[in-house]
Amino acid sequence: SSTETSLKNDISATDVRGYKGHDMLAPFTAGWHTTDLEPLVIQKSEGSYVYDVNGKKYLDALAGLWCTSLGGSEPRLVAAATKQLNELPFYHSFWNRSTKPSLDLAKELLDLFTANKMAKAFFTNSGSEANDTQVKLVWYYNNALGRPEKKKFIARTKSYHGSTLISASLSGLPALHQQFDLPAPFVLHTDCPHYWRFHQPGETEEEFSTRLANNLENLILKEGPETIAAFIAEPVMGAGGVIPPPATYFEKVQAVLKKYDILVIADEVICGFGRLGTMFGCDKYNIKPDLVSVAKALSSGYMPIGAVLVSPEVSDVIYSQSNKLVALETLKIYKERNIVEQVNRISPKFQEGLKVFSDSPIIGEIRGTGLLHGTEFTDNKSPNDPFPPEWGIGAYFGAQCEKHGVLVRVAGDNIMMSPPYILSLEEIDELIMKYGKALKDTENRVEELKFQ
Ligand code: PMP
Repeated sequence: SSTETSLKNDISATDVRGYKGHDMLAPFTAGWHTTDLEPLVIQKSEGSYVYDVNGKKYLDALAGLWCTSLGGSEPRLVAAATKQLNELPFYHSFWNRSTKPSLDLAKELLDLFTANKMAKAFFTNSGSEANDTQVKLVWYYNNALGRPEKKKFIARTKSYHGSTLISASLSGLPALHQQFDLPAPFVLHTDCPHYWRFHQPGETEEEFSTRLANNLENLILKEGPETIAAFIAEPVMGAGGVIPPPATYFEKVQAVLKKYDILVIADEVICGFGRLGTMFGCDKYNIKPDLVSVAKALSSGYMPIGAVLVSPEVSDVIYSQSNKLVALETLKIYKERNIVEQVNRISPKFQEGLKVFSDSPIIGEIRGTGLLHGTEFTDNKSPNDPFPPEWGIGAYFGAQCEKHGVLVRVAGDNIMMSPPYILSLEEIDELIMKYGKALKDTENRVEELKFQ
């Protein structure tokens, strides 16, 4: 074809030399691959085809790595990338910053995913990173709910969830673990749902699914359901060999997970965006996930991007429940410890102990109530005779307090204190003693300044 000839004409002397023993450290590539074999060097794509540096044409039956869903030369994607690179090649989304495409894409993804209601989308650069993010979100969620022991993940043997430390841990392929000290200890693996390979003689698909769901339940019970946070699964297992689930598998597995309050994570990195003839694998197998990972076909592989979709139940906790829960717990403690009584028990000592310093020649007023205190430094005990601001009397007092080991708030020549309610009577003595020392230092300082 003309493309082949033009490609051949483009090939430089270096290309012809070949790349055996090249300099790139490549993933999933043993050393001998690069030292003994000529790598296949792909140079160009056109529709469903790619061409190597020698102009040889291949039908790309894996779509890159399960990702170039729209083939290798979709001009609209090139145009979109070019437009964005011209307009704004980078901006971040930390600290409540964002970009319009991010916001639009989040909305679009949530609208598109209808197997279960999703409330938020979190963006990543890859499927691996999306699955690592799943672990962080789930841990954050359970910490916020005050159950820090609910942290383990269950994945399945032969699953593939990525190549980073955590996503490789979740994966159930020995090659991803051996030599890498994986899986991480919080990851457990349950059966691969491959009926053809693993069913027992005479066992139907439904019976096989029941057995696997029972095995899953036994694993959960053995570990303690209170320690199991989430279950992650590809709707159809991809890199493990393309293994569709047996009949009734997800129905039975989800029933078990629900029973033990275990989150369901759907890894839609391969299945998502239409590959199974439904928009998502979850649609096809009636999976109702709490969290979803997507990547690959999300950009047809043209740009690295992934995302985590988060259900309203999970995002509510992540957004607000964490602080609300802390608040609830705080109120509970106040009640349990009769906190008002506690404040009334210790505050007289606090107030009276400090009141003693009212006689100091540099203090205009000592005021306060409960566990709130204010000191105001003035000359002549008058509200109308402030010390010269350049003397910095308040700041000096604050610094002396710090020296003696007490932290107070300084605002000009005003000093404020609002100690914790848990203060003991001994700690009040300590506070007053140190305040007194700082005051003495400050009185001496004023004396010095006056006679300069
Ligand atoms: N999950 C699944 C199901 C995958 O197939 C893959 C990649 N093959 C990943 C996660 C990891 O995605 P990425 O390669 O974008 O990190």
